[in-house]
Order: sequence, then structure tokens, then C-alpha cells
Amino acid sequence: MNYKDYYAILGVPRNATQDEIKRAYRRLAMQFHPDRNQGDKSAEEKFKDISEAYEVLSDPAKRAIYDQEGYVGLKSSGYRGFEDISDIFQSFSDLFEEFFGFSFEEGPSKKKRNGADLSTEVWINFEDLFKEETQIDLEIERWETCETCQGLGYDPVKGVKLCEACQGKGKVHYREGFFRVAYLCPECGGKGSTFVEKCPSCKGNGRIRRKRSLKISIPPGVEDGSIFRLQGEGEGGLYGGRPGDLYVRIRVKPHRYFRREKNHVFGEIKVNFVSAILGETLTLPYFGKSLEVRIPPGTQPEEELILKGEGLPDWRTKERGDLILKVKVELPKKLSPEGMEILKNLAEKEGWIKSDSRNGDSLEGKKKEKKSDPKPKKEGFWEKFLFGGKDA
Ligand SMILES: [Zn+2]
Ligand SMILES: [Zn+2]
Repeated sequence: MNYKDYYAILGVPRNATQDEIKRAYRRLAMQFHPDRNQGDKSAEEKFKDISEAYEVLSDPAKRAIYDQEGYVGLKSSGYRGFEDISDIFQSFSDLFEEFFGFSFEEGPSKKKRNGADLSTEVWINFEDLFKEETQIDLEIERWETCETCQGLGYDPVKGVKLCEACQGKGKVHYREGFFRVAYLCPECGGKGSTFVEKCPSCKGNGRIRRKRSLKISIPPGVEDGSIFRLQGEGEGGLYGGRPGDLYVRIRVKPHRYFRREKNHVFGEIKVNFVSAILGETLTLPYFGKSLEVRIPPGTQPEEELILKGEGLPDWRTKERGDLILKVKVELPKKLSPEGMEILKNLAEKEGWIKSDSRNGDSLEGKKKEKKSDPKPKKEGFWEKFLFGGKDA
């Protein structure tokens, strides 16, 4: 058995990465491809050897056996290599498609390739939802179809020539024992012609990597997470293929004071306890305008004030939701002794407290002799303290 040094065959070091191995194989496969070396038996052998070396070294399991137990160990593990050249083309059809830009099996129609879709995300402010229109500058980097060659890859001035590999037939034949195997010409992809020179702008790639800035306008009321499709703004196509689309996901930054539910906007409004009792009209700055918020007399804590139509518009129907403000009553933490006296007198006058009500001790200067009965009756006891019960 002949020992085969796969690393030497591919001309790569023993610690070569997968990428290096692939590149080496690509280069050698181009050089020793049977179509380029018709009738050359030694080139054919070389093509088989490099393909076998690539098959082993590109497969981590096979490579490990080969590294540890050598060629003999690999063979005794059951590895047989390739039967013949058509076997190689079948096994590597995806790889060759990647190398040469088309498949041996599927033909030239596959050459027309549409560009891939791209996706990106943009963040807007909560405030932006109220604006008539929000313009966003979007920076993207993408492959664009080369303008010089329209994505064909060849120099359009120098044009094309008859394919030498297949003499313009688009097919090449290969003899394997009794069989004559025909497959698409790898040089021209079955077209029968090849280009004279690579396109100078894209170096034959057909596409050019470019940074682009796009302006997109976002309608008011857009929901967080909505996705917009920008047709044709994805990657460029090849050989006449369509460009892909760009999907933009809109994210809305949360607001410190307001939150959204459907098209309603929720917030909490601070109301002074006197204003809650007497009523007041407040002016609230609200996304580019001032809102008059009427606090009706007798407003209770946690009550909700609904401002019709002051929410967000539905971005499709334009119908607006409401602004819903929950009342947070602010109570003073401290009062002057004079203020306390006035408040106590007021409270007594209004019947909010009685001089002998619960917790008479809390107010200073209370006369001891007027203190209430320390043992109140069970009935009606809780209603002084708690909500609920039959009368509540
Ligand atoms: Zn050809
Ligand atoms: Zn080009």
C-alpha cells in the first residue's frame, strides 16, 4: 500500500485550518480539473489525490484518525476514497458550485441568483410616535450588483469569447471505462462562451461591498417590534437576479413617565390634596402641546382621568386612543402648628373627625377630659377604619 501524505498533497501545514485546506483544494482543483487537462492521465490522478486529501482533511473525524493512526489506520477504519471522477463530482457538487458559481448537476439556469434579504433594527423615541412623520437615517453595508458589468463578472467592453474547454458546446465528455459521461462545461457553465477578462470594477465578483445610508420615514403610532419591508434594498442579485429585500424592525424606547397599551397612553398625575378636594384645571406639557387636565372636585386617589383621543393613532386606521391618567394624591408630610390647628378645626367642622374619634392622642393640645371611651362597641367598629362591610 502506498502511503499518502494528504498535507503534502494539498501543500498545507499539519496545523492548517479548515479555511486554509479549502482554499488550497480550490486552487488545485482549478489547476487539475479534468476539463482543463483533457487526456492528461497524470492530471487526472492528481485530481483524484487532491480530492481524496480534501475529503479526509475537511472531515474532523477522518482527519483525527489520519493524524493519529496515519494512512494505514485510516484505510483499516474502512475509508475507501473515491471510485472515480464522477464520484468526486457527485460528492462535491455543492462545493464545486461554491467554487465555480454553478452546479454540475443543475445547469446554467441556476446561475441567475437573487440577492439575499437583509434585516436591521432601529430605535426611535416614544416622543416620535406623536410626530406626523419620523425620518430615520439608516446605515447599512451590503453587497450591491456591480454597475459596470451588471453582476455578470466580466469586462463588458472586452466581452465574451467561445469557450475553449467545450469548444462552444456547453458540455464536456469524460470517459470512464465503457461509459462516456457528459456533464456541463465547468468553464462556461454550459453557455459555450466565457469572458475575455474579469470586470475591472468588481474583479469578477459581480458585486461590490458598499455602505449605504437610506432614509426611511416612520408613520406615527407605530408599535414596538413592527417590521417594515423595503423592497429591493437587500443584497444585489447576480447574473440578472433580483435584489433581496431589507426588513427593518422598529423598536420604541420606553418613556420615563408614559407607557402604551394598544393605542392608549397611560400615566400617573400628581394632584395636590386640596386640588383633589376642590378641583382644579392643570396644564400638562404633552408631546409638543399643552393639555388642559380638569381635576373635578372630590377626585379620589387612584381615580382615572380619561382624555379622549389624546392617545396614539393606529398607524393603519389613524384612529386615536385615549390618554389615561391615574390620580396620585399628594399629601403634605409636615404642617406648621398653626396649620395643624386650622386643619383640625376644619376637619371637626366638616365632620371628618370628631374630637373624640379614633386616635385622639395624635393631635397635640387635646384636652384629656374629653378623651373617648377606650372600648368601642363591636358593631360599627371596623367601618371607622376599613373599607367594605354592608354599609360601604
Ligand atoms: Zn465551455
Ligand atoms: Zn463588475
